Amino acid sequence: MPKRHHVPQRRCIVCGETGEKKELLRIVREPSGAVSADPGGKRSGRGAYLCEKATCREAALKKGRLEAVLKVKLSQDDLTKLAAGLNEAGIS
Ligand SMILES: [Zn+2]
Repeated sequence: MPKRHHVPQRRCIVCGETGEKKELLRIVREPSGAVSADPGGKRSGRGAYLCEKATCREAALKKGRLEAVLKVKLSQDDLTKLAAGLNEAGIS
């Protein structure tokens, strides 16, 4: 029998690994179109989640996966800023 209590699960957009919300790092596309790390997971907008693996972070930034999930076009500059933000945010 599955456990009865339900903890919302999030899924890494690269490897598909699931975890509780606090275990994955949220990236948000705000209504303005700006994309940034959202370590608090509170900002409104379309969200994507990444697990803590550096390979997933790199893949999300390099292979256009994030763009597909967030339905946004990211310039190299956007990606550079986002990468810095993700490094800073890390995983709590
Ligand atoms: Zn992953």
